[in-house]
Amino acid sequence: MTEANIISRGEHGISREQIDDNALKVLYRLHNAGFQAYLVGGGVRDLLLGLEPKDFDIATDATPDEVRGLFRNCRLIGRRFRLAHIHFGREIIEVATFRGAHSTDKNGVLDDSSGRILRDNVYGTLEEDVWRRDFKVNALYYNIADFSVIDYTRAMSDINDRTIRMIGDAETRYREDPVRMLRAVRFAAKLDFKIHKDSEQPIYQLASILAEIPAARLFDEAIKLFHSGYAVKSFELLRHYGLLPVLFPQTAAAINQDAEYEVFLIKVLQNTDRRIIDGMTVNPAFVLAALLWHPVITQSKLLLADGMPVNLAMQKAIDKVLPVQLRITSMPKRLSMIMKDIWFLQERLKNHSGKRAVSVFTHQRFRAAYDFLCLRSAAGENVEKDCQFWTRFQELEEKEQEKVLRPKRRPPARAKKSSK
Ligand code: ATP
Ligand code: MG
Repeated sequence: MTEANIISRGEHGISREQIDDNALKVLYRLHNAGFQAYLVGGGVRDLLLGLEPKDFDIATDATPDEVRGLFRNCRLIGRRFRLAHIHFGREIIEVATFRGAHSTDKNGVLDDSSGRILRDNVYGTLEEDVWRRDFKVNALYYNIADFSVIDYTRAMSDINDRTIRMIGDAETRYREDPVRMLRAVRFAAKLDFKIHKDSEQPIYQLASILAEIPAARLFDEAIKLFHSGYAVKSFELLRHYGLLPVLFPQTAAAINQDAEYEVFLIKVLQNTDRRIIDGMTVNPAFVLAALLWHPVITQSKLLLADGMPVNLAMQKAIDKVLPVQLRITSMPKRLSMIMKDIWFLQERLKNHSGKRAVSVFTHQRFRAAYDFLCLRSAAGENVEKDCQFWTRFQELEEKEQEKVLRPKRRPPARAKKSSK
């Protein structure tokens, strides 16, 4: 057994004022009902680093049913991990019961032949729970009973050294759940931490086992990587560790062939990061449309060269490229529809007057398609004139806009010269 390092309230920087009110409510209600209750995971890690946590996760010795008994606004979710979600309007506080038992079938942890954990619902003590978490910096527990932080894994020294390090044998833990490789990258990017040598080494070899993860989960993780506010850094780390070709094979191949496309992608990701920092909305379809743009347009150009009409070529190209990606990272239909809109509108943005231009400007996805176009232009594609036109156009008063879009009168047809 390992001794815990207890950091008392005066020795760490976390104060209750920094903890979300609803998370505190949950912690106190569990505590007052006689259960243990801890803030854990990213909440503790980020507060210790002086960052604002994305969400607050709670660990307790109460079973999910006991948690439900305490909260009216509680829903139990998950199969692989059974969790309680306590709803406060739009905010959800996640409460996990301590997990026990370490990877033997008898104890209820079921794994498949590759060592992947399929079900994990044996409850245990805090001391057992620690070892089931992924990285040391994610395994610190803030105790609501005395406001101390409990550290079993010497995580505090990793916080100080800005290091992501797996708990236990890294290779085994990545095989148990390959998504941990993406999590390592995400935390390294977000926190500007390095991944410890022993925890990064296996990633180079194991990257391909990510492909075993269900496509819906991979989609969620991919979006977290690109919508964390650190998309550029995440993208570079994905490339560095050989994870990009597994997650986005067509994108990885395209940037190896075309340096200009890489510039475009970096610009898109920088733009996404900036929007998040500025508190603007981001739509996953935009980044995904960018990640597949080169594969789609390359395919479409080939078909065009064979004499296929523009729209049909685009449709056929999408039909070829998109399903390859959807097998890896599935996504809601609503998003793939937006991606298609953005792609089709690229051609239509070449229309600067008449009915066609009106229908482009009034299209629900005009703004996204226009942003996409101008990022292409900024990356050196030959669409600068179109970007400039639509930029100026949006600055005009409505009346002026109407004038610009009015169909240009065709010059009167000249009478055909008689051959006689
Ligand atoms: P953030 O919320 O900032 O993205 P986080 O560390 O809180 O980061 P969550 O996904 O919210 O990450 O998970 C909460 C905690 O649950 C983690 O800190 C970690 O202790 C544990 N955890 C989550 N996913 C895994 C996993 N795949 N394997 C092991 N432990 C995990
Ligand atoms: Mg969290």
